[in-house]
Amino acid sequence: MSEDPSLQDFRLRVAKFLAAAKSTNDTCPAYGAILPPHLHSKAMHWQRYCYDHGWAGVHWPQEHGGMGLSRAHNVVWHEECALADIAPYLNLQGLVLAGEAILRSGTKEQKERFLRATLSNEILWCQLFSEPGAGSDLAGLKTSAVLDGDHFILNGQKVWSSNAQFAQFGILMARTDTTLPKHKGITFFLLDMHTKGIEVRPIKQMTGDSEFCEVFFSDVVVPSSAVLGDLNQGWSVAMAVLEDERGGAGAAGVINLRRRLEQMSAGAGSIDTLTSDELTKILNRGRALQALMEFRGTDPQVAPIAKLMNSELGYDEAQVDAMLRGADAMLESDATEGLLYAPGMKIAGGSSEIQRNIIGERVLGLPREPQSSE
Ligand SMILES: Cc1cc2nc3c(=O)[nH]c(=O)nc-3n(C[C@H](O)[C@H](O)[C@H](O)COP(=O)(O)OP(=O)(O)OC[C@H]3O[C@@H](n4cnc5c(N)ncnc54)[C@H](O)[C@@H]3O)c2cc1C
Repeated sequence: MSEDPSLQDFRLRVAKFLAAAKSTNDTCPAYGAILPPHLHSKAMHWQRYCYDHGWAGVHWPQEHGGMGLSRAHNVVWHEECALADIAPYLNLQGLVLAGEAILRSGTKEQKERFLRATLSNEILWCQLFSEPGAGSDLAGLKTSAVLDGDHFILNGQKVWSSNAQFAQFGILMARTDTTLPKHKGITFFLLDMHTKGIEVRPIKQMTGDSEFCEVFFSDVVVPSSAVLGDLNQGWSVAMAVLEDERGGAGAAGVINLRRRLEQMSAGAGSIDTLTSDELTKILNRGRALQALMEFRGTDPQVAPIAKLMNSELGYDEAQVDAMLRGADAMLESDATEGLLYAPGMKIAGGSSEIQRNIIGERVLGLPREPQSSE
């Protein structure tokens, strides 16, 4: 795109592009935060299609394959995708978490190696943060990367790594100095998932799908060039990534919500007063979230509030949907899947309890909860 279009003009262009791509069946339906395996090939195709047509990475630099526009243009892209029920990108782990981290902290070489390849779908990313003993208490992670000459030797285990079975690269946190306090001595890596010594085991969920995996590392040789940011400074790189993850709920999420609620009420036939009341409450909570994002969306303190509101909304929406479907929700329908998937929303990206702790301590300035060890 040769000049920066006004937001209004850009909105019209986006709507036109999306409508044309949808009519030729090149798009992928909106799916929320985690790419489900059954949409994998459709999402891969859609990402490549956007890249080939000059519509990938709205606010990423043009030299790395993006459109070079502003973050406000990117919000418009997300809103128009939501209105059209189309996924805004291939996956959150790559196009938001890894991509933004590399844009912020990457070397020139890392930007050249990864950004364009992420936009064009040659690299699909996964997030290798959580471990069996380190989820909410992420700083307690034990996976170790020991420096040995010009490379590291990686050993340990990650869990709940979404899309790891498909990923070419992962953003990884590993302990590189055991003598430092637990928030220090952690380094952030861009890990090639095809390196010898990495074993990925998909986990079967109660929905029947396998969206996430266990990942085991046995003496994996990782080059020093894979470090993002500085050695032992991975905690601050990761905190910015988690802020991106929490801050994902915006106006686009509410447009998606409104569309789903309309579908729910349209498909329900006659709705009693109680159910109509529940639908209205959810819609109003969605509107409150939308207003919050419009007025304070760029404030980092809002990120945990938006994450909490969004996850709780998603969970309650699935309950109301199940109530509307009655016995159907107990059978094999999309309502069953929604109901079984819903609890995960209150855990993924940091649980609701942890968001409440963050809001209490960092937004409201309440005393910190006691820590067993620092
Ligand atoms: C659908 C899904 C996708 C995910 N994808 C990824 C991924 O791609 N990559 C990745 O690295 N991780 C991923 N995760 C993992 C996720 O980040 C963790 O599950 C989450 O951070 C919670 O950690 P945990 O499961 O170890 O639970 P724990 O930390 O063991 O918590 C167990 C329970 O205790 C509560 N709790 C813990 N500490 C406190 C406290 N201090 N105060 C109050 N309550 C507390 C929690 O809220 C929770 O209810 C995913 C999870 C889900 C559900």
